[in-house]
Amino acid sequence: MAAATSPAAARRPSSSPVPSLCPSKASPSSLPFPLRPCPNQLLLRSHRLHRVSSSASFAAASSFADLPYPSSEDVFAFDDKPREECGVFAIVGDPEAAQMCYLGLHALQHRGQEGAGIVSSDGASLHSCTGLGLVSELFSQASKLEPLVGSAAIGHNRYSTAGAASALANVQPFVASYRFGQLAVAHNGNLVNYHSLRYELESRGSIFSTTSDTEVILHLIATSTTRPLLARIIEACESLEGAYSLVLLTADKLFAVRDPHGFRPLVMGRRPNGAIVFASETCALDLISAEYVREVNPGEVVVVDSHDMSINTSCLLPKKPRKGCVFEHVYFALPNSVVFGHPVHASRYNFGAALARESPAPGADIVIPVPDSGFFAALGFAEASGLPFRQGLIRSHYVGRSFIEPNQEERNLAVKLKLAPIYGILEGKSVVVIDDSIVRGTTSSKIVQLIKNTGKAREVHMRIASPPIISSCYYGVDTPRAEELISNRLDVEGVRRAIGSDSLAFLSLESLRAAFGKEGHMFCDACFTCRYPVPPRKHDAVNAVEE
Ligand code: SF4
Repeated sequence: MAAATSPAAARRPSSSPVPSLCPSKASPSSLPFPLRPCPNQLLLRSHRLHRVSSSASFAAASSFADLPYPSSEDVFAFDDKPREECGVFAIVGDPEAAQMCYLGLHALQHRGQEGAGIVSSDGASLHSCTGLGLVSELFSQASKLEPLVGSAAIGHNRYSTAGAASALANVQPFVASYRFGQLAVAHNGNLVNYHSLRYELESRGSIFSTTSDTEVILHLIATSTTRPLLARIIEACESLEGAYSLVLLTADKLFAVRDPHGFRPLVMGRRPNGAIVFASETCALDLISAEYVREVNPGEVVVVDSHDMSINTSCLLPKKPRKGCVFEHVYFALPNSVVFGHPVHASRYNFGAALARESPAPGADIVIPVPDSGFFAALGFAEASGLPFRQGLIRSHYVGRSFIEPNQEERNLAVKLKLAPIYGILEGKSVVVIDDSIVRGTTSSKIVQLIKNTGKAREVHMRIASPPIISSCYYGVDTPRAEELISNRLDVEGVRRAIGSDSLAFLSLESLRAAFGKEGHMFCDACFTCRYPVPPRKHDAVNAVEE
């Protein structure tokens, strides 16, 4: 067990050299799994930045204490976690399609909070309502849903850090008119060949009205020379590279498409009235009493005709290895969802139990989760280690964007506004703290300080229910630049010193995969390994390693 580290000692040394961009620079023996060399992760394209702190301000800070004072935006986004960028929902054959879509988007709110939209079809034309904000805010008045008539609808929740001026134009679903009618699309994922596709389309005369990669899909469908629409969609999708779970709506048909690797989830369900539903997660099916039918398979195109409710499926070519995003199980998806055929709560429990077997904390008194995402992993750790599970931190769910920044000097305010220690549980105890992941390390360091200084815990042993994050995601998850990821720059002991815990351990990659049994190899884990199933293209990254 490592010696206790004071908060001051926990700070990143101001004399540290320019952070290495390469995980192979970390001591290989200190990492829980061998890394394939990833010689240079310098990004050519400005990857979308978190609101927590800009890369420039991070680089300028000589210690965590020097990081900028938290703004109201920081408080809202204090979690220092990768951000899911979208959730999609679709329904056909329901007289209250828009209302069901509203409920479905509400259930998927965790996948994107910056904007939402619904497009409905009355069998002849499409009707759209999109806006910025939470689903419940946008559609707080029933009058907003009234114009969305018809028995079919698609919806979208958006997360993005794009500027406010452009944000509204980028809120989906997008609706376009082409020579055979209207078409709406909602997209979860990210296209790694977006820039080259857009360049080609613009070279041929296409004019874009958004900065979203989703718009190229509409252009590719509109400019295709094949018929019918299903063939156009297939031709368009076969030129896409990267992650896409799509729902598309015309006056009389609903399409659901998943990329050949199946990076992002998409499930199909059926309501008791026979309506067919598609959603990013099964939690959206549960809310509207829809029965889970199956996943939309990777590379599958499902078409539902709204006239006779017939269902047909086609396949995209070529077939590729299944690579569902493992981070859906680590953090993004709700624990009551089933993602890629596996219950999320069970995965997290198994991650925690495996972590307890791999990296126990001898002498610890209690196990506590970092709420809410560490809950099930902490349960697994506690039961596997025989230690009592306690709720030592309480999370406030009422801190939002409207918080007014105070003027007193308080570096840890963002965390203290969200998390409160329970003294009676923590005081004098040796505590195992379970979190799902560490991204920059800024929040982890503040949580350790909170538990030690305010909660008066004797020792804090951090256990992380996933491997160290060393690479950025290019498949629809908003992650910081590689050089901002603390585990890209430091080995495990370096991270422990930086966050100030008495000990630190991450779940091994082998145990992460083993939690899915024989399907362990069917997941993308590039943010832990730098092994990208689809290599990022220029404008995204250089020298990433193709798996
Ligand atoms: S790189 Fe990470 S976050 Fe992105 S799809 Fe792969 S596992 Fe998920």
